[in-house]
Amino acid sequence: MRTLIALMACCFVSATAYASETPAPAKISTAPAGASIRPSLQTKINKPSAAAASESAAASASAPASRASAKSEREREEQAEAELSAKIAARLAIMRANQAARVAQQAKAKKAAAVAAATPPPVVQFRSNHWSYEGETGPANWGRINPDWAKCSMGNRQSPIDIRDGMKVELEQITFDYKPSSFNVTDNGHTVQVQLSGGNFITVQNRMYELIQFHFHRPSEERINGKGYEMVVHLVHKDGQGNLAVVALMLERGKPQNTIQTVWNNLPLEKLETMAPSIVLDPMEMIPQRRDYFTYMGSLTTPPCSEGVLWLVMKEPVQASPAQMALFSRLYPMNSRPIQPGSGRMIKESN
Ligand SMILES: [Zn+2]
Repeated sequence: MRTLIALMACCFVSATAYASETPAPAKISTAPAGASIRPSLQTKINKPSAAAASESAAASASAPASRASAKSEREREEQAEAELSAKIAARLAIMRANQAARVAQQAKAKKAAAVAAATPPPVVQFRSNHWSYEGETGPANWGRINPDWAKCSMGNRQSPIDIRDGMKVELEQITFDYKPSSFNVTDNGHTVQVQLSGGNFITVQNRMYELIQFHFHRPSEERINGKGYEMVVHLVHKDGQGNLAVVALMLERGKPQNTIQTVWNNLPLEKLETMAPSIVLDPMEMIPQRRDYFTYMGSLTTPPCSEGVLWLVMKEPVQASPAQMALFSRLYPMNSRPIQPGSGRMIKESN
């Protein structure tokens, strides 16, 4: 019976502690708490045994008491005690499991709240990759279409420019080291672009740049002393550090141009498709005899309008036939960015 009382007391104290969700378990095992509870429990616990006693008295009244019956009553009591302690143990196990689950859930919720507080809300921005040469997606709005293109409207080293008031100096000649190369042609929706296999270089200002691609604009984007040309070829080069250098070749009406004809012959039938012919193309054929040039620091003339681009604009225009010009104009009648402010940039030119 003593064991039973102790178990009940333990159970009651534990239940109280769990119910109030007090995290400190010290209270459960303190002796005074158990002691103060014990008398009231004893009263409750005595009741069933008193009832059992009266039952047994009644039983003894109807039949004479024997040793055997007393023994079996003790055994029953012991069995009842054992069953009760098993039930209490099971109940305690369930309560402990529930408590552990609650604690885990609270910790998880706290963690989620902390993560949510630390994560900034997503910034909603209008972002598109579509641009064109006129209308809402035209050059005046490029900087607003995509935050990555902010330079198109905020930059102060933008291209193209009207090249004038150049400083005439002894400019080092550009060394062209081009050779017949395999190539492919893409109509990328903004221009016709020719990608070349590696191995074509220019050297200027002691830096070597490799030719990556060339493409066309109509009319010419840059002007020289206010004068524009019917078309321009941009030969885009990159050095080992990723710096860009663009050679601009002005195109005027005249004799057919071999390299341009080879490109036109291999135009893909559909936009965004690439034609990879098995022949080679020699970009050297396009380079004019006279190597005088203008140079200034500018930008890409299409989004993202990145600055830090070295521009090398050849003074002598290159000829292309009216038929060759007409063919391009059927694809792109106008694919030129307007002239950008010079913003006091230095322009140097060969003397
Ligand atoms: Zn270009």
